[in-house]
Amino acid sequence: MDLSFGPEHERFREEVREFLAEHWPAGDGGPPPGAGQEASFRALAIERGYVYRRIPRRYGGSEQPADPLREDILRREFFAAGAPLGIPGVGPAMLVPTLLEHGSEEQREEFVAPTLRGEIRWCQGYSEPGSGSDLASLQTRAEPDGDEWVVNGHKIWTSSAHLADWMFGLFRTEPGEPRHAGISYLLLPMRQPGVEVRPLRQMTGTAEFNEVFFDDARTPLRNIVGRRGQGWKVSRTTLVHERNMIGDPARVQNLFSDLVELARGARLGGRPALEDGGVRRRLVELEGYVRAQQYSGYRQLSATAHGREDRTRLPTLMNKLYTTELVKRLLEFGYDLIDSDESLAAPDENDARARLARSANYPGGWTTQYLYAHGASIAGGSPNIQRNIIGERGLGLPRDLRQTP
Ligand SMILES: Cc1cc2nc3c(=O)[nH]c(=O)nc-3n(C[C@H](O)[C@H](O)[C@H](O)COP(=O)(O)OP(=O)(O)OC[C@H]3O[C@@H](n4cnc5c(N)ncnc54)[C@H](O)[C@@H]3O)c2cc1C
Repeated sequence: MDLSFGPEHERFREEVREFLAEHWPAGDGGPPPGAGQEASFRALAIERGYVYRRIPRRYGGSEQPADPLREDILRREFFAAGAPLGIPGVGPAMLVPTLLEHGSEEQREEFVAPTLRGEIRWCQGYSEPGSGSDLASLQTRAEPDGDEWVVNGHKIWTSSAHLADWMFGLFRTEPGEPRHAGISYLLLPMRQPGVEVRPLRQMTGTAEFNEVFFDDARTPLRNIVGRRGQGWKVSRTTLVHERNMIGDPARVQNLFSDLVELARGARLGGRPALEDGGVRRRLVELEGYVRAQQYSGYRQLSATAHGREDRTRLPTLMNKLYTTELVKRLLEFGYDLIDSDESLAAPDENDARARLARSANYPGGWTTQYLYAHGASIAGGSPNIQRNIIGERGLGLPRDLRQTP
């Protein structure tokens, strides 16, 4: 078995590393870059063909030929350097590919380039109270009135709705039709009198998601993506990109390395925790899962690179489930290490805490990330739902019992 990427791609990896070392302003632990610095870095990365590779140049992308190996290298190297592969958020990662597949030319021209530049920020309006896993039961309705849709109802768990300029979402437009057939995919401006956003506080202490209430909110009729009643089909494209984003395995290996560093820095029984037999056993067990994911990733990548991509979407489902569950376990262990770290009881407790928080390399440190990880495994489809789909579509198991309308 040859696990190398081959000389051409290894040269490409070196080129990307050099580019990041030279141009990413926060490299080598420097201060976080300002918005202007990030924008110039992004422009350069687009020019080099590293960012927005699958997006045509006329919409602000770098329009590169498909090359799964180069894409994998870019994801990992940018992630390891802490550099964003484009503007983060649901707009560039989920809506843009959806518009490229299902949107009208007019919609692509209006929305894609400003979204990729971060000038339009989006939120995703799918879930409603009582309609999460069973999304097709959603009730928020949109009715045509002249040349506009009029929207009434209630969305929930809408991440970043308080920051968003626009929402892409699912609305019931054909009330007489059966569940899936009655839904359309609309784009709706958030900053208008008929839209009210109320924050929901999470156990991390922050409020990243919200409830959104619509009371005669309006959007032009042309802001429908795909045809009336075909929103479900359009939403599947968005969902695949959402699961790819959440289940990106690049994070896991970095997190594991950080965990080893954490164990090296924490103290247990008067020694570095890394020297403790129990800690080592747990690390080795986790490393087994990390490696399993890495090799499974190589298998998928190799199949895709040889034109044998699995088009069933099962790899996406499996990656999302496996990655989010594994991230939870890695962070949980980090949390335990911090909990038992004897240096926290030392006189320099503040220093120790600061060191441990920093070592997580993620906003808020290990503890916040651990708490947040539970949400990440639910967003984009809960673990039970992922298991059901994998079992039924992948393994051909009998269908689970479901409520029918
Ligand atoms: C961090 C985070 C961010 C989110 N961001 C957004 C967003 O921006 N926009 C948006 O629209 N939504 C968002 N969501 C909502 C997310 O899509 C839903 O939480 C998710 O789909 C689950 O729906 P629910 O919360 O209604 O749970 P429910 O569907 O009520 O499920 C509750 C429990 O029952 C289980 N369950 C339900 N049905 C079945 C079944 N048939 N078989 C077996 N078990 C089942 C589930 O697995 C779960 O454990 C976000 C959620 C989180 C946690």
